[in-house]
Parts: sequence; structure tokens; C-alpha cells
Amino acid sequence: MAGQKPLLELENFIAGKFIPCNSHIDSYDPSTGDVYCKVPDSGKEEIEAAVMAAREAFPCWSSTSPQDRSQIMIKLADLLEHSLEDFAQAESRDQGKTITFARTVDIPRAVYNFRFFASSILHHTTDATQMDSMGCMHYTVRSPVGVAGLISPWNLPLYLLTWKIAPAIAAGNTVIAKPSEMTSVTAWMLCKLLDKAGIPRGVVNIVFGSGSKVGEALVSHPEVPLISFTGSTLTAEKIMLKSAPHCKKLSLELGGKNPAIIFDDANLTECIPTTVRSSFANQGEICLCTSRIFVQRSIYEEFLARFVEATRKWKVGPPSDPTTSMGALISKAHLEKVRNYIKKACAEGARVLCGEGVDNLSLPPRNKGGYFMLPTVITDIKDESCCMKEEIFGPVSCIVAFDTEEEVIERANNVKYGLAATVWSNNVGRVWRVSKKLQSGLVWTNCWLIRDLNLPFGGMKASGIGREGAKDSYDFFTEVKTITVKY
Ligand code: NAD
Repeated sequence: MAGQKPLLELENFIAGKFIPCNSHIDSYDPSTGDVYCKVPDSGKEEIEAAVMAAREAFPCWSSTSPQDRSQIMIKLADLLEHSLEDFAQAESRDQGKTITFARTVDIPRAVYNFRFFASSILHHTTDATQMDSMGCMHYTVRSPVGVAGLISPWNLPLYLLTWKIAPAIAAGNTVIAKPSEMTSVTAWMLCKLLDKAGIPRGVVNIVFGSGSKVGEALVSHPEVPLISFTGSTLTAEKIMLKSAPHCKKLSLELGGKNPAIIFDDANLTECIPTTVRSSFANQGEICLCTSRIFVQRSIYEEFLARFVEATRKWKVGPPSDPTTSMGALISKAHLEKVRNYIKKACAEGARVLCGEGVDNLSLPPRNKGGYFMLPTVITDIKDESCCMKEEIFGPVSCIVAFDTEEEVIERANNVKYGLAATVWSNNVGRVWRVSKKLQSGLVWTNCWLIRDLNLPFGGMKASGIGREGAKDSYDFFTEVKTITVKY
């Protein structure tokens, strides 16, 4: 149609070249519901080519010095930072997140991922021990593993992909990355910077497409000895099965059902806005988002009233509007899934205090077909309800009351997940005791989402296997060898 923009058509990036693909998957703009991009629907053939390129590049890249690799990564970070605004616009359009979130969180963090691992790779040490009685000393050496398969989800597209690419290449591996088919644009834009930064051909290959086709081909390939995956627990189960015959090294960062525990001495002036943010930031589509809020009974009613008031101020609107707090959900199917959870909760007798079905959402005409919903607060809900047990991954938070410390620890732990928790109290002893007993890979007390990338990140139970971070990612992306020398 006259005046209509042509669809963006992405290409795979293999051996330093953009390679067109014959078939494509439609990618939607979540804020309008229109198809705006065509993503390669790659499969085994493309994986074969990428493995060949990554294997060819490995001997040279793995023998460059960490200092040289570090310099190249710093250059890449600089180039990405230089184009920050373009990347932020693209991420917001592709994912539905607000432009403010993309500008201040996603892309700055992607830049920082390269800078961080460019620095940390220079500071690892290995171990040595002596055994005088045997006239021996032992020491360890570490080497890159080979071709790493990196698979990432749609919620923080470039942020999470670079959180894997950066440590993998810093340690001397070559990689095949597969972003989510729903959010592939910024990964494709990154490919355009790799050569300029000086990353040799074949070191970073990006292959686009669906999980069931190209994702499985990558996971099943015998020449890809390690897979770093972030995504749902269900997909992780499939990946484990496909990897088992090859004994692959696996790093799995999965879903969560994260509790916030709010004691009666909490500073509510800080706690309420932070818990609104931890529930609804990025449309609630962050694995670390709060979805179960336990409030001590004596402050329960006050908390409910103030939390609902603050949630109603959380503005939903077009992602491109810098005044909005929340954009569109990733897809029509996901929006339906989130809405169904709310319907199920209501059928069980729960009460929706604000949001879906209670308040009206007004949108500009061009966004009427977009996947928007209001942040929703549910109460009068049982711990056994699916809304309190399963990961919804949307802007829905359930609030329930508790009486004692022991009780809330047990209830908070009573889900299959164990990713992140927050604890709010001014009693240091209590904060310490509760944090220690929570089955959770991360506990934030009196704050949320403050990270030191040096420290381990990851979940317990069904939330994952392994950790990511300076040392943890280095350990994952290298093999260790113990050498004994008799003197
Ligand atoms: P998903 O599991 O559906 O997909 C994740 C990635 O895996 C995508 O690239 C997808 O194409 C690919 N994939 C799907 N099936 C595959 C298969 N059989 N073999 C290989 N690859 C396959 O997850 P999603 O819906 O994209 O993301 C949301 C999930 O990710 C949520 O559960 C969320 O909690 C989780 N997540 C976890 C973290 C964390 O750090 N723990 C961070 C972000 C998101």
C-alpha cells in the first residue's frame, strides 16, 4: 500500500557475513499488533554452517591473549554505546517495553556487559597447592571449551544475549547465539558492529528462528559442547533431554514465582513504590519480578490501600511515550494467558482490587490492536491457587496476609521455583534470619534489582542450574585441569 513502510527483513550472521534465509517468521509490533519484521526461520542447515564457522574461528580466537580480547570487547561496547538511542528505539518497538526502560536499563546494561567482562577476564587467578610429603605441587589451568550455544528469551532481548556472548568470547570461546524469534532485531543490529569492533569472522554467529526448529538443532549438535540458556523451565527440560546423550555442559536460568515479604516495621514509604516497580516493571515480564506479596497482618489493610493507590498511578500507554511506566505485553497469546490467570483466580473467589476488569484502559486509536493491559492487584487468594503457584510473567501481583516469621518463610518457600525474593524490615536480625532460610538464589532486603555483576546470579529448584557472574560465568565457559608436578 502506498506510504506503508516495507517490512524489516533480518538475515542470519554466519562467518562474518549476512546470509539471507528462504523462509521467515512474522514478528509483531506489540503496541499495534501489526507485523513489522520478518525473522529468518532457520534450521539444521544454518546451524551446520554456523558450527563450521565457529569451529574454524576457535583455534585462533582461543589463542589470542585475554588482553587483546578485552580491547576488542571495549571497542564493541563503545560502538554500541554510540548507537544507544537507535538500539533503544528498536528494542522498545520490538518488545513493547517503554522507551524509557530500553534507554535506561536494556541497552546501557548490554554496553556494560561487554565492558564488565572485558575487565573481569583480566583478573582471574587459578589455584595451586603444595604437598611436601609427596614432593609435589598441584596447580590448575583453565581453557576455553569450544563452540558455545547461547539461547535467550524475549523479555530483555539484547541485555540477556550480551550477558552470555560477553563472558563466552572473553574466555576465548566462539559462539552461536539464538535470540528469541519474537525479539530478534537488536541482535541483528549488533552483528553490524562486530566487524567494526575487530571481532574476527566466525567468533560470533547469530542464527535466528524458532526454538523448536533452530533452537533444537543447536542444542542437539554434537560439536556444540556447552549450552547457556535463559528461558522457561519447560524449555529447559527439553534442552536437558536433548543434551543428555552428548553430556553437554549446561547453564540454565529459568522462571520464578518471587515473593516479597513485608514486615510490620518496614519503611512503607520506600517499600511501596519499590514493590510496585518490582511487580510491574517491564510489564511484569522480568524473571525477577515480584508476584506474591506477603504482608504482616497488622499493616495489611494500610498496605493494600496504599499499594493499590500507587499501582493506579502506574501509567500504561504507547511504549514510545516517555511518560508511560508500562508498555505492551509481548504477544496476543501471552496477553490471553495472563488474562486467563486472572479469570481463574476470580472463579476461585479471589478479588481484583485494580487493573484488569476493574479499571478502564484508554489508548490512542493506533494502539487499539496492541497487547496492553493494566497492572492488576489480586487479593483474598489461597496459596494453593495457580496464580500463587505458577509463573504468570505479566503485570499481576497477589497480596496476602501473614502472622509470624516462621509461617511466612514456609509459605514463601512453598512453590517449585527459587529465583528471587525481597524482604522488608528494619530489624537486622530478622532480615538476616529470613534471608538465610528463603529458598532463593537472590534475596534483596529493603531494595530490589541492585546488582553487582561480580557476584553469582541464578536460581534454586526449578529456577535453574548454575550461576552467572564474573567468576561463575568464567568457570562455566572454561574447562579446568589440575596438573601435578613432582619436584
Ligand atoms: P522460552 O523458554 O519459551 O524461550 C526461550 C528461548 O528458548 C527462545 O529463544 C526460544 O526460541 C528458545 N526455545 C524454545 N524452545 C526450544 C527448544 N525446544 N530448544 C531450544 N531452544 C528453544 O522462554 P520465553 O517465553 O522466551 O521467556 C520467558 C521465560 O524466561 C520465563 O519463564 C522467564 O522467567 C524466563 N527468564 C529467566 C531469566 C533468568 O535469568 N532466570 C531471565 C529472563 C527470563
